[in-house]
Amino acid sequence: MTQTAPVPSFYAASANTAPERPALQGPAEADVCVIGAGFTGLSTALFLAEGGFRVIVLEAVTVGWGASGRNGGQIVNSYSRDLDAIEKQTSPGHLKLLADMAFEGGQIIRQRVAQYGIKCDLKDGGIFAAITPGQQGHLASQEKLWRRFGYDQLELLDKAAIRQRIGTDRYVGGALDHTGGHIHPLNLALGEAAAFESLGGVIHEHSQVVAVNPGEPAEVVTDHGRVRARFVVVAGNAYLGGLIPQLGAKSMPCGSQIIATEPLDAELAKRLLPEDDCVEDCNYLLDYYRLSGDKRLIYGGGVVYGARDPDNIERLIRPNMLKTFPELAAVKIDYSWTGNFLLTLSRLPQLGRLDNNIFYSQGCSGHGVTFTHVAGKSLALAIQGQTDRFDAFASLPHYPFPGGRLFRVPFTALGAWYYGLRDRLGI
Ligand SMILES: Cc1cc2nc3c(=O)[nH]c(=O)nc-3n(C[C@H](O)[C@H](O)[C@H](O)COP(=O)(O)OP(=O)(O)OC[C@H]3O[C@@H](n4cnc5c(N)ncnc54)[C@H](O)[C@@H]3O)c2cc1C
Repeated sequence: MTQTAPVPSFYAASANTAPERPALQGPAEADVCVIGAGFTGLSTALFLAEGGFRVIVLEAVTVGWGASGRNGGQIVNSYSRDLDAIEKQTSPGHLKLLADMAFEGGQIIRQRVAQYGIKCDLKDGGIFAAITPGQQGHLASQEKLWRRFGYDQLELLDKAAIRQRIGTDRYVGGALDHTGGHIHPLNLALGEAAAFESLGGVIHEHSQVVAVNPGEPAEVVTDHGRVRARFVVVAGNAYLGGLIPQLGAKSMPCGSQIIATEPLDAELAKRLLPEDDCVEDCNYLLDYYRLSGDKRLIYGGGVVYGARDPDNIERLIRPNMLKTFPELAAVKIDYSWTGNFLLTLSRLPQLGRLDNNIFYSQGCSGHGVTFTHVAGKSLALAIQGQTDRFDAFASLPHYPFPGGRLFRVPFTALGAWYYGLRDRLGI
């Protein structure tokens, strides 16, 4: 991991107050050492602390510095690949567990927010917006699929109904997920960190892990200290760099970019999103947007394979925003930023063990706000000896990227270009 600069995002500028968390100095001991203070690491740590475990979290930069503090803030149910793809790859028993967990992440977030009084602008309502009739057909299949797995909160919207909820003529229809929603993601991460600390958990920021030595206990090493722990959880996701080469080989960091407008006047905000839903469209390279608590439009899109930072994010994303909402032409962009998520070849998440007592979770491929919370619960339960949820995820096959580190970027970009072309042609 080489990037450590502060992120000039709207979220960083509107973050709730957080304490200084000193770097690890010298030796320490814990039941569990977690690497990374994003949603995966924090969620795992909080579940474990609730179960009475002594947990130390080591974070290379600051809490929520990675994707968890920079994302679109959208609470989206299910996984980046849906349950029909999973169905082909696992046993009926595992499928049942994975299907139940597909709709659990939002509940975990809401429960955390309520229990610990986390102030993160939580709102209900998420829309999948169809640009083409083909995409609307896909949403109809998705509604049936989710219903087959017991979820009945997805409501199809025709052209007139979606026009009532989004102030644009761009969509032919869509689907409203009543248990979707949105949050200020950095404030959720900071709130979860504070909840963890309130239970005796310890977080060291500015503590990049440089080695993980297997053993019982295992040893986690930083430049200025080391933690001996019965268990280790690796939760560095797209920012893990070369720390664990076998995790790098089967995943690829990708960048996504977001802009935030100046606060909109109340009438304009109401015209764009009268019900304050969050929205993602159904394109392969999708646009996603929502209003912030102070009524800025937060608009994201674009994917940079291999996660190079683009020079001018506003120039990249603003035209997409204007395509959806032409009336924002004169509105000023106050913030623009980029963040990295981790893509896997199957677009399914990867949970597993590097050793008996060293666990990892990574690669939710763009839809991670809910999944990371599910993963945290699954990892914490596995460490406590209840492995059924973890085993269900671990049953999904992991594939290396074709082309290795050298060619995985052009190969994948070519694939994405193909799917993007299909979107543009409406096929
Ligand atoms: C721009 C963008 C928009 C997105 N929008 C959405 C959305 O709207 N909805 C949705 O569901 N998903 C979204 N995602 C995906 C989602 O944000 C991620 O899947 C999720 O936050 C991943 O959480 P994480 O904890 O696994 O990783 P991260 O949040 O990236 O956390 C990993 C942490 O590990 C630390 N770390 C790494 N290596 C080390 C080390 N060696 N030592 C110590 N610490 C280390 C990093 O500093 C980092 O803080 C988006 C992602 C991006 C980038």
